[in-house]
Amino acid sequence: MIRVFIFGLSLLLLAQCQLKEPEATTATKEEPTQPKNIILLIGDGMGVTQVTSRFFYGEGEPNFQRFPYIGLIKTSSSQEKITDSAAGATAFSAGVKTYNGAIAVTDDSTSVPTILEMVSDDLSSGLIATSSIVHATPASFYAHVPARGWYEEIAAQLTTSSVDFFAGGGTQFFVDREDEVNYLDTLTAHGFVVDTAQLQKPANLSMEEKYGFLLAPDGMPRMLDGRGDFLPQATQMALDYLSQDEDGFFLMVEGSQIDWGGHANDAEYIIEEVKDFDKTLGVALDFAERDGNTLVVVTADHETGGFALSSGENYNDLVGTFSTGGHTPDLIPVFAYGPGSEIFAGIYENTAIFDKMIEASGWNQADGSVAVR
Ligand code: MG
Ligand code: ZN
Repeated sequence: MIRVFIFGLSLLLLAQCQLKEPEATTATKEEPTQPKNIILLIGDGMGVTQVTSRFFYGEGEPNFQRFPYIGLIKTSSSQEKITDSAAGATAFSAGVKTYNGAIAVTDDSTSVPTILEMVSDDLSSGLIATSSIVHATPASFYAHVPARGWYEEIAAQLTTSSVDFFAGGGTQFFVDREDEVNYLDTLTAHGFVVDTAQLQKPANLSMEEKYGFLLAPDGMPRMLDGRGDFLPQATQMALDYLSQDEDGFFLMVEGSQIDWGGHANDAEYIIEEVKDFDKTLGVALDFAERDGNTLVVVTADHETGGFALSSGENYNDLVGTFSTGGHTPDLIPVFAYGPGSEIFAGIYENTAIFDKMIEASGWNQADGSVAVR
């Protein structure tokens, strides 16, 4: 009698579940299936050998090894077999293949909405780079220009963008301009608390304010020249700020200078920048592990330098060698952690990074608005 009753009750509950919320049966799992937050970390110019270098240099286990899902992307741009950072970042930010040099515009120079802009009505967003904040990779998330070198126009567009937190270099593009406008004042007028002196955490890191850190005239110093923990610390500060938004956030963090080490054919430069980037991955992963609601995706726009670690005098003697001062078309690794991370396994186009972030998060409303849970 009792068994029959329980069986009947179960059926009733099951029927109710199915009537009301078809997804409720899967939602009973402890882990969420959709992330509330996404952290995208881009190691500019970081191919497999650059990642490999962290397994031979630096203290402790690489944070790269903490990711359960690994993929590879094909990085060609719309016009060229070998991409630059502008087309590469636009593939991630907006999901379109475009020409080298294009910042969030399509082949015919039409502006295309970025993931950061798509979520801006409902979620908070941040950008961090070790280049200037108007450099191609960060710019492709908030600016729309037909040529990456339009730094002063990109800086102007940052002031009216939907970015809530940014940190990097580039002061000169805000204050030493052809139009003689002081765009630091413009940033302030648009609600930013701007610090050009140091990465000092404000006493009250309030969601009522927006924050901008511009800490070098152009790019930030190299690790070899004493940049210190700027990248991991700025990332931690951004997470402390953005995680106050109950609706979620999008954060892009770029290790910009792995690319510059490749262009310079300087193995030590690359190795130190990759170590710094890996340390920053640790900050993102520690947050995501505690939070449980955060998807972390790590990739690169392309490889730079044709970098190899070759054997020298003997097989224990690693020598950094290069085949070019430019970029290469190598397949590029993707590392993913957190809710939705499993769909980042496989080999696919760089534009699918955007598609998969949207698919995983459900930030996919046709009108550009965001489905907030
Ligand atoms: Mg870059
Ligand atoms: Zn480059």
